Amino acid sequence: MQELEQLVSRATAEFSAISDAAQLEQAKALYLGKSGSLTELLKGLGKLPPEERKSVGAAINQGKQAIEAALEERREHIRRAALAAQLQAEALDITLPGRGMGLGGLHPATRTLERIEELFRSIGFEVADGPEIEDDFHNFTALNTPENHPARSMHDTFYLENAPGLLLRTHTSPIQVRYMEEHLARHKGVEPMPPIKVIAPGRVYRVDSDATHSPMFHQVEGLWVGEDVSFANLKGVFTDFLRRFFEREDLKVRFRPSFFPFTEPSAEVDMGCVFCSDGCRVCSHTGWLEIAGCGMVHPNVLKHVGIDSEKYLGFAFGVGPDRLTMLRYGINDLRLFYDGDLRFLSQFK
Ligand SMILES: [Zn+2]
Repeated sequence: MQELEQLVSRATAEFSAISDAAQLEQAKALYLGKSGSLTELLKGLGKLPPEERKSVGAAINQGKQAIEAALEERREHIRRAALAAQLQAEALDITLPGRGMGLGGLHPATRTLERIEELFRSIGFEVADGPEIEDDFHNFTALNTPENHPARSMHDTFYLENAPGLLLRTHTSPIQVRYMEEHLARHKGVEPMPPIKVIAPGRVYRVDSDATHSPMFHQVEGLWVGEDVSFANLKGVFTDFLRRFFEREDLKVRFRPSFFPFTEPSAEVDMGCVFCSDGCRVCSHTGWLEIAGCGMVHPNVLKHVGIDSEKYLGFAFGVGPDRLTMLRYGINDLRLFYDGDLRFLSQFK
């Protein structure tokens, strides 16, 4: 019996020193295997006198159970240790701050266009779009631009090779022409025609490139046609727009007589210099900045799209959002807009 107790405590000690699953199974064989120590003890039972067999057998079985329990406990311990090691090895430190992604931002030209659209939408204007490759009619003829007008010369306009009559639009006015045509079709026979209030922002193209000109630039044109639209409305709407755009209630705005083929009368719009009060380099020491062209829509333009010019009047204006952007942010070279230099662009994030 002493032998049995020793056997159990030896097995328990031996198991608890092992931390490898395969080794543990080998150690098990030494005790519980076919020729293991405990198995040998059981085999010896037969040599005992019959009256002792029962009690010795029961004791050996208890010993066997104790060894099996110690074995199972050690197996469980090894399994847990393996799992803990695996978790440790595959640990993900969720407290580590993320690497983050560089945030992009809107291009200053886009910011200005969105701002203009927002301001005009707030007073009931729609925003229209149109093709950048235009035909001669929508870009010139419909806008009362005669054949011999300088705007038609090869120096200003990009014409498409092998596509007679097609060109890159030189202004966003053709969007307005298309909008008027669609508006008329939509309200065919409706009297009086519902007013047209629309702005046309977009890219335009001219053969020109220096510090203040780019062969591709942006334009926003506005148009309001109705039964009693006046030059006073034009002055009010445009002055209010400039003051809201530059966030200056006291911004000075003046209208100077001018000429455009598609408006009559026509005017240039100047606004007080945003950089000085009495003259600086930007305003050529005049205190004024040329900012837009405008006027009452020429009757011929209305006639070209089929609007009764005796009954309806309208005003139109065209402004360069790139120039507005330069003035608003104090940028002195238009080419910075298109160089893709992140040092410049990231300032507008
Ligand atoms: Zn100035």
